[in-house]
Amino acid sequence: MLSERLKTVATYIPKKANFADIGSDHAYLPCYVCTKDIEAKAIAGEVNEGPFQSAVTNVKHYNLSSRIDVRKGNGLAILKESEVEQIVIAGMGGSLITTILEEGKAKLDKVNRIITQPNVDASSIRTWFYQNGFDLVKERIVKEDGHIYEVLVADRGNANSNYHPTLVKKQLLFGPLLLQEKSEPFIEKWQVEKDRKERAVKQMMQAKELDHAKLDCFKEEIQMIKEVLS
Ligand code: SAM
Repeated sequence: MLSERLKTVATYIPKKANFADIGSDHAYLPCYVCTKDIEAKAIAGEVNEGPFQSAVTNVKHYNLSSRIDVRKGNGLAILKESEVEQIVIAGMGGSLITTILEEGKAKLDKVNRIITQPNVDASSIRTWFYQNGFDLVKERIVKEDGHIYEVLVADRGNANSNYHPTLVKKQLLFGPLLLQEKSEPFIEKWQVEKDRKERAVKQMMQAKELDHAKLDCFKEEIQMIKEVLS
């Protein structure tokens, strides 16, 4: 049974997709998509032996070896050039996802959609999209089993169309589309984040050596969160 989190991700994979799921673990997502859509095909990438073997076993179990190729390796290095049109990277931190995209840029020439689900630090992915000509076309924030997670979908296109030039910093942090909605999980996430940052600021002030740059950065973010929540 696929988690609601990965079902949300699957929603943004088009029909007849030809996609790569990087960090696929058990290959649950490609198995789900290729079972529902007999014209879809996928490459499941995994850097670690255990998850790689789980992916191989699952793909065989669902009789999908002709349409899901399981490969072992780091990030997008498992792909040949122009091999896929969509890329999914889910269930990792935003900075790792960004590193995978940056290091694998050469493999993106035919990719027209990137779907990410960062566990933390979504802003680094938005920044990467913003700087690399991918437009955010959809952002979702969902709560499941007590966890709040974000799904960011970007299409290759007229870069930056969802960003307002004077608001860029705020939009990168909160998400330009999530900001428009201000849904319940969004409010909850940023309330928790504000409390966490306020505690961190208190601790910093008590430290022997004050990191002024970091302190200012935290204070600025707290101010931005307050404005967004007000
Ligand atoms: N994508 C699945 C999901 O969302 O449920 C699995 C997420 S799991 C927490 C992260 C997976 O990414 C692990 O199986 C890990 O081995 C794999 N991984 C981490 N870094 C990777 C990289 N650079 N290249 C490929 N796989 C990676």
